[in-house]
Amino acid sequence: MSKTVLITGGSRGIGRTMVYAFSKAGYNVLLNFNKSEAIANEIARELPNVKVYGADVADQNSVINMIEYTKNVFGSIDVLINNAGISCTGLLQDISIDEWNRVIATNLTGTYNLCKAVLPEMISKKDGSIINISSVWGICGAANEVAYSASKAGVIGLTKALAKELGPSNIRVNCIAPGIVMTDMTSDLTMEELDDITSQIPLGKVGSTDDVANLALFLADEKSSYITGQVISPNGGWVI
Ligand code: NAP
Repeated sequence: MSKTVLITGGSRGIGRTMVYAFSKAGYNVLLNFNKSEAIANEIARELPNVKVYGADVADQNSVINMIEYTKNVFGSIDVLINNAGISCTGLLQDISIDEWNRVIATNLTGTYNLCKAVLPEMISKKDGSIINISSVWGICGAANEVAYSASKAGVIGLTKALAKELGPSNIRVNCIAPGIVMTDMTSDLTMEELDDITSQIPLGKVGSTDDVANLALFLADEKSSYITGQVISPNGGWVI
């Protein structure tokens, strides 16, 4: 029987590539989107084993309803990928409390909301894999991105603590902390900035959405059954 994966922020960028990769690998996929409904529906028309659900991950009630919908449609949820995220640039003294709250609510509280809603079923069947998408900035911090870095460091802390809580229930919790990946999120980088970043990366190139999706496929699979609580960073050697 096909396994089911729920991917938040599956409409664009890294999440979208993961939707295609998991669908191709034979998973049933629940694609969560927030604003990009038309794109999400287009993907679902293309891929027969993909269903879509619009929900803001920061809204706990919407998340609970999405989990119920997924179980009704596919029977159960085997893999959860907390990918939805927003960035926020600006010096700490220039960021408003609203901007700070929005980043934390989406990137960190969103991850909490999804984990909390999916866990009762995973714990009762003693099986599951949770993959949280952090960032290199959650590991080493970025000037001008304090809120984003704090939210992504929080995701790493959540991953490690939750892995300890859930190991006895045979649920694995891991974290992917990508370096720079070309998506809408990074589209405002100038060629000059990109050249500068690339020159600092030992492998001499930025990452692709496939680099992240391939790792997620591995962490979802039984092939990684002894791996939990880990932060794996596909970053070309940029942060070691
Ligand atoms: P992206 O291209 O901007 O896509 C973001 C996705 O998140 C979209 O599908 C968006 O959905 C969804 N999203 C945003 N807010 C949401 C919310 N409140 N509820 C539900 N979905 C929401 O970004 P990306 O580069 O693919 O990033 C994906 C993840 O990787 C993020 O967590 C990001 O922090 C992380 N990451 C990215 C990079 C990078 O260089 N790109 C590096 C490290 C980590 P809608 O369009 O439907 O609103």
